[in-house]
Amino acid sequence: HDLVRADHESQFALDDWRRCAERGILRLMVPVEFGGQGADLATTMLTLEGLGHGCGDNGLTFALASQMMSTQVALCRFATDEQRTRWLPDLLDGTAFAALAMTEPGSGSDAFSLSATAEPLDDGSYRINGHKAYLTFGPVSDLCLMFASTRPDAGSWGISAFLVPTDLPGVERGEVREKMGMRTTPFGDIEFHDVVVPPDARLGR
Ligand SMILES: Cc1cc2nc3c(=O)[nH]c(=O)nc-3n(C[C@H](O)[C@H](O)[C@H](O)COP(=O)(O)OP(=O)(O)OC[C@H]3O[C@@H](n4cnc5c(N)ncnc54)[C@H](O)[C@@H]3O)c2cc1C
Repeated sequence: HDLVRADHESQFALDDWRRCAERGILRLMVPVEFGGQGADLATTMLTLEGLGHGCGDNGLTFALASQMMSTQVALCRFATDEQRTRWLPDLLDGTAFAALAMTEPGSGSDAFSLSATAEPLDDGSYRINGHKAYLTFGPVSDLCLMFASTRPDAGSWGISAFLVPTDLPGVERGEVREKMGMRTTPFGDIEFHDVVVPPDARLGR
């Protein structure tokens, strides 16, 4: 496709994303028992390096690496069988997008200073509030792996990760943000307003 125009108009190459999924790129580092290729880190790195060498769309390669290394690795390593079964198949076949949501308007490199909260409720569910910013795939994500504190008084020890479907009431995906470079990767904010998630939305302990 016309890459100069796509870059100018911040267009994401959905067809190419699906093609990469068909070729198994998204499955590279995923263990075979979870539907992946079971490739090691060096193989994955060399494959992505080759793709980056031949593909002019650096926003596409960045997006691939982002989803593979952040959300998919976390799902493979820390999710329950139910969580993996729910999310991995659609992510691996390129039909769903996942955003990792750590950064906030007031919390970047110092990630432990985040202010998003996940208030534990009596029935075991959590009420999530917060604003996450600069998220790769944020505006188009189906799944958001977000970090919030269940115990703000405990500092970094109170932070947990949650798998939040973005179609839940109270989840607001923002507009695609303009940026310099990698303009073909959709990138933006997600806000959480009293989003109630069940106990099994929590990832890991
Ligand atoms: C293309 C792109 C994609 C992104 N995708 C995601 C995503 O998917 N999910 C997500 O959660 N976030 C994402 N981010 C956000 C990214 O994680 C943050 O930009 C990053 O954590 C830095 O935070 P900040 O921008 O607030 O900068 P700051 O933390 O405010 O840093 C500003 C400057 O200060 C320097 N600095 C900071 N602390 C120190 C220190 N202690 N000592 C010396 N220098 C310091 C930094 O090096 C930097 O130059 C993305 C950002 C970009 C650019």
